[in-house]
Amino acid sequence: MADFYTVFARTGTRADGRALISAFIVGARMPGFRLVERTRLISPHPIGELEFKDVRVPEENRVGEEGEGFRLAMRTMDMFRASVGAAACGMARRALDESLRYAKSRVQFGVPLASHQLIQEKLAVMQTELDAARLLVYRAAHLKDMNGSALTRAASEAKFYATEAAWRIIDHAVQIHGGQGVMHGSIVERLYRDVRALRIYEGTSEIQKLIIARELLRD
Ligand SMILES: Cc1cc2nc3c(=O)[nH]c(=O)nc-3n(C[C@H](O)[C@H](O)[C@H](O)COP(=O)(O)OP(=O)(O)OC[C@H]3O[C@@H](n4cnc5c(N)ncnc54)[C@H](O)[C@@H]3O)c2cc1C
Repeated sequence: MADFYTVFARTGTRADGRALISAFIVGARMPGFRLVERTRLISPHPIGELEFKDVRVPEENRVGEEGEGFRLAMRTMDMFRASVGAAACGMARRALDESLRYAKSRVQFGVPLASHQLIQEKLAVMQTELDAARLLVYRAAHLKDMNGSALTRAASEAKFYATEAAWRIIDHAVQIHGGQGVMHGSIVERLYRDVRALRIYEGTSEIQKLIIARELLRD
């Protein structure tokens, strides 16, 4: 799908043996570049296997200085981790909206589902977790705008909490929908599949926890 790819490649070895990583812009029409195949995941995502066969990339396509690639990638992550958290909040919000609508309209045991206290408990937890996730995302976004120094930890907290909370919220939504919730084609069924990868890409939840702990222990 993409016309350009941001590629991080090893361009040498540092004195201490670590890889020297540099970033490049590679055009999809450059000779030797090929999309081998799109990868099918549990929900649609633009991801696939790429082939680089003797691709010659001009120096002007390098982003930043040689060896700066890893630092650039980490800085970019600080921004996009918060945005993955924001995406998680969007999915969770839709799941909550669908659940409220369904709980008010579906009648079981003579009353709407929303009248049962066990359903109310789920809705209350979903709303509270969504608000907490949103606030963490807003804080990370604000720190980014302010060039705040604690952005790395804030972005990891936002990504970690929001994606895990969205997963729990959507799971509750499926439960509230009962059999409807697992029917192929229903909104919460799609959200259930869509949300899963968010805990993996842009750094897994485990990696976010390691970053948060590293930043805490740094001082
Ligand atoms: C939908 C999707 C989109 C993606 N988009 C991009 C993209 O645009 N650009 C890009 O570069 N990559 C992308 N990725 C790749 C993604 O960033 C990696 O899949 C992710 O970082 C995990 O790496 P891995 O798959 O190699 O898993 P592994 O690193 O093999 O991890 C496997 C498991 O072990 C755990 N683990 C690994 N190391 C540790 C550790 N030190 N301590 C504790 N637990 C650990 C992980 O948390 C995970 O649970 C995408 C992946 C997906 C699924």
